[in-house]
Amino acid sequence: MSDECIFCKIISGQLPSRKVFEDERVFAFHDLHPGAPTHVLIVPKRHLRGLAEAGAADEALLGYLQLVAARLARELGLERGYRTVINAGPDAGQSVFHLHLHLLGGRALAWPPG
Ligand code: 5GP
Ligand code: ZN
Repeated sequence: MSDECIFCKIISGQLPSRKVFEDERVFAFHDLHPGAPTHVLIVPKRHLRGLAEAGAADEALLGYLQLVAARLARELGLERGYRTVINAGPDAGQSVFHLHLHLLGGRALAWPPG
């Protein structure tokens, strides 16, 4: 837990969120400013700054984030397709420095992303 981190505060319940899923490792909730009809953030409960800071010990966790995304996509009815994204660092537009996987779907998604 980082005292200054908004996602740590969401995970601990200090800040409200629209929760989609929670287990011992991850917390998932709807993005406050959705970029698609479905836009869920899947966040490890342990504070980790971002993908660039992940190490070998985080290998299973990173795979788990993707599998949770696939399961939530099924549950949320994204059978036409969806995209998972991790923004890492300033050029990618990372704005919250607590690792998170975006799950986007519910419309056709352009490629390449902007
Ligand atoms: P990033 O830009 O770091 O990849 O993604 C951060 C995401 O967190 C953005 O899509 C932004 O809309 C979302 N976000 C930022 N603050 C909050 C918040 O307080 N609550 C929720 N639900 N989403 C947030
Ligand atoms: Zn945090």
